[in-house]
Amino acid sequence: MAFKRLSIKTQAKQELIDITDRVQRAIRELGVSEGVCVVFVPHTTAAITINEHADPAVKEDILTMLGRLVPAGAPYQHAEGNAHAHIRASLLGHSVTVPIEDGKIALGTWQGIFFCEFDGPRQREVWIALS
Ligand code: ZN
Repeated sequence: MAFKRLSIKTQAKQELIDITDRVQRAIRELGVSEGVCVVFVPHTTAAITINEHADPAVKEDILTMLGRLVPAGAPYQHAEGNAHAHIRASLLGHSVTVPIEDGKIALGTWQGIFFCEFDGPRQREVWIALS
């Protein structure tokens, strides 16, 4: 298995960051031309998702509606004050799996891979495993 860690410095309390190009670069550097790419986030208040990266309004809509579904000010039991971030991260999930074809990540025309920050700004990691 080929493995690589990416560092991501998030800038806002919550944001979606398009990391498609960085994942593609990692696949090239690891020299894998066919297989499966797992993109994994080793955090409890961040997530990873695949969605449209042509219109930036889509990621804003995702953040807005997650905020309505899981509001920051609700009466949670978790004492750190970031229960909403944990729940939003679980809703989107901590990994995506994408095929690799001819050394390229095989995504649909409109798809991009997004790192999802819900309790930033922080120093974060994304782990990429190819097999
Ligand atoms: Zn917490």
